[in-house]
Parts: sequence; structure tokens; C-alpha cells
Amino acid sequence: MSTPNVIELIIVTFMGLAIGSFLNVVIHRLPRRESIVSPGSRCPGCGTALGWFDNIPLLSYAVLGGRCRGCRTRISIRYPLTELITAGVFIWHYLVFGWTPLLAVRLLFAASMVALFAIDLEHHLLPDAITLPGIGFGLIASLFLPPGIVDAFIGTLVGGGVLWLIGEAYYRYSGEEGLGGGDVKMLGMIGAVLGWKLVLLTMMLSSIAGSVIGVAVIAWHRGGLKRALPFGTFLALAALAASLYGEQIVTWYAGRLG
Ligand SMILES: [Zn+2]
Repeated sequence: MSTPNVIELIIVTFMGLAIGSFLNVVIHRLPRRESIVSPGSRCPGCGTALGWFDNIPLLSYAVLGGRCRGCRTRISIRYPLTELITAGVFIWHYLVFGWTPLLAVRLLFAASMVALFAIDLEHHLLPDAITLPGIGFGLIASLFLPPGIVDAFIGTLVGGGVLWLIGEAYYRYSGEEGLGGGDVKMLGMIGAVLGWKLVLLTMMLSSIAGSVIGVAVIAWHRGGLKRALPFGTFLALAALAASLYGEQIVTWYAGRLG
């Protein structure tokens, strides 16, 4: 952990809020196959176009009391929440990575994970428009930065390929779809950005979290709701943990083995 610098911290915080605000647009429009750039934001209730002053992260929501300026329709708490969470995740990454080139890569990765988490939660969908460019981005960044291109390449194969094989085998055996194609591509992206060790760790963490929370949900609802939380949401959380603390966890684990 590096010593935080106040100016850098402020920049990262505002960047997180602004990108969180952009992610709101992505999360709303991408699954509906709408353009992300145009038209500008509109109130879903009355269709009033939103000005820049309606779009200031957190502030507009607070000033307008969580309602549209025109029709007073309630605006979902999800919007300021996404902005807050993105800013929080950005600050956390800054505190771990410091003001480094790797920070830029991991912030873009973290923003993608926030978007995938929210879209999978609501639509049970992990759009190719995020995961496929994510694989390309991870491989290109790894030419210059950790984990390095070899690790990233193996990571993509481990994340994407191995899981695809397991899913395929499971499907042949049981005739039931195990993992969706979206999960596989998302794991390919995680492998490309974090490398093969951390994509394995991500799989492990997400399976543990998935089982624990899955059992809790099933117990709570007495069955039913088996797919209440799609696997991509666990993958996103696990990938963020792996991005932040994966190296330490892997080193600690290797030390215990050795
Ligand atoms: Zn309105």
C-alpha cells in the first residue's frame, strides 16, 4: 500500500463518480440494445431530456430529492448507489496500487465488473460488448504490464477454454445448461487482465461465495429461487477481490504449501 496523496485521491474520487454516472447509462441501455451515446439521458417517466445539471453524480439526486424535475417520478436509488460504489471501488484500488500505470488498467477492469454485476443481476445477461473487448484490452495491456502476456494468454485459455469444456461436458452428460456462454467470456476477460493464477482464484472465491449465499437463499425461500443470484454477480465480486488482494492470497497460499 502506498501513501495516499490528497490531489490524487480527489481525482480518483471524482473519476469514480463520473464513470459511475456513465455506468448507469451503460447498465440501463446495453441490455436493451440502445445506443450509449445518443440520445442524451431522458426521464423514463415523462421523457424530459435531462440537462447537465440533472446529471451531476450524487448532487443532482440529493438536490432533486430523488425525483424527476418535470414529473416528480421517483428516480431509482440504484443511480446514486452505482456512483457511490464505483467511487468506492476506485478509491480502494488507488489505495492498493498507488498512482501507477497498472492502476489505470485495474480501474477500467473494476468499472467493467461493476457494470457486469449490475446487468447480470437485473437481466441475467453478460453482454459481449463488455467481455469481448475486455479480453482484447487485457491481452494488450499485459504486453506492457503485469501479469505479462504469457500469464494473460494462459489466463484467457484457463478462464474461457477450460470452463467452456466443463460446460460442454456437463451439457452432454446432463442435457442441462451449466454455465452460460456469458460466464465463460467473462472469465476469459478476467484471465486476460489478471492472469491465470488470479482467474483460478476468482473461480474458487466465486464458487465458495456462490455456494454459501446460494444455500442461504434456498434456505430462506424454502427452495425456489435457485437462480436468484446469477453466477456473473459472484464472478464480478470475486474478480474485484482477486484484483485487489489476489497476489497476497496466492503468495500466502503458496507459502503454506511450500
Ligand atoms: Zn419525468
